[in-house]
Amino acid sequence: MRGGIDLGGTKVQAVVVDQDSKVVGEARQPTPTSGGPPAVVSQMADTMTQAAAAAGLATARLQGVGVGSPGAVDAKTGTVDEARNLPDWEDPFPMAAALTELLGCAVYLGNDVSVGVRAEYELGAAKDAKSLLGVFWGTGVGGGIILDGKMWVGRGAAAEIGHMVVKRNGARCPCGRRGCVEAYAGRAAMEAKARQWVKRGKHTELFEIMEKRGRTRLQSGIWFRALKRGDPMAVKLIDRAIAALGAGVASAVNLLDVETVVIGGGLGTRLGDPYVRRIEAAMIPHLFVSDRPPAVLPAALGDLGGAIGAALLVPKEKRSPRRPRATSAG
Ligand SMILES: [Zn+2]
Repeated sequence: MRGGIDLGGTKVQAVVVDQDSKVVGEARQPTPTSGGPPAVVSQMADTMTQAAAAAGLATARLQGVGVGSPGAVDAKTGTVDEARNLPDWEDPFPMAAALTELLGCAVYLGNDVSVGVRAEYELGAAKDAKSLLGVFWGTGVGGGIILDGKMWVGRGAAAEIGHMVVKRNGARCPCGRRGCVEAYAGRAAMEAKARQWVKRGKHTELFEIMEKRGRTRLQSGIWFRALKRGDPMAVKLIDRAIAALGAGVASAVNLLDVETVVIGGGLGTRLGDPYVRRIEAAMIPHLFVSDRPPAVLPAALGDLGGAIGAALLVPKEKRSPRRPRATSAG
């Protein structure tokens, strides 16, 4: 059995998977908003312990635990740096060592978006594909590229689909530049735009729905509800997001000619297939080879994809536990 933790800005999701990567236990808790890395790591360990208990075992009995983390992840040293959507997380913190201490098993770190893309490739929507572009449409717009079965990371910063430029000198992006996909499609940028329009006297139900649900941010479910009611501002902002995603993803396909595009992330998963079909339609006019478009599919693993992908970071047990481990030649 392997454990997986998806560490997000709002929630910590943990799973335990069996030999066939089937989920046999899961737990979820909110991400602490204060207390820095020690508070976050303690909550991660607690959530993992709950998931393991649901699977009927202690964490020390796990083959290992994988973590999909935001920020700059150094898998070799086991540290996470500059995770800005986590509380007071500016300096490198030894996440793997701290978790190993609390869980009593080996811990493996990976980037949150990469592990989600890897999970869709191995077990989800892109199971039969050789090449894949994963698009994670949420607070930001993240991506992952798999070419001929291998994750393409470039020099460590590849697949930033959210920062493909779709309009020169366009809207300001949270990254500080202009005209990126994320400047139109990222949930944070969309919320900022909505707040700006409200200040100028435009009407929307978005913030009423937010307050009714006891939230302080426009989370994916709030957009979903506003769209269902036909709220004109929500419709307009989502139309803009889809147009930007269509142009950005199509440009990436023109460059890479991948077989499959998988759309996931908080908004992608919540809005689901009808909106994935709209992104696909928005891509068509920008595709250089338009008569042979890639398959455009919603992520199949949903909310648990990140945690399942994190569990895949743990090497599967190969040896029989009774036989002594052969000494490694290096
Ligand atoms: Zn940007």
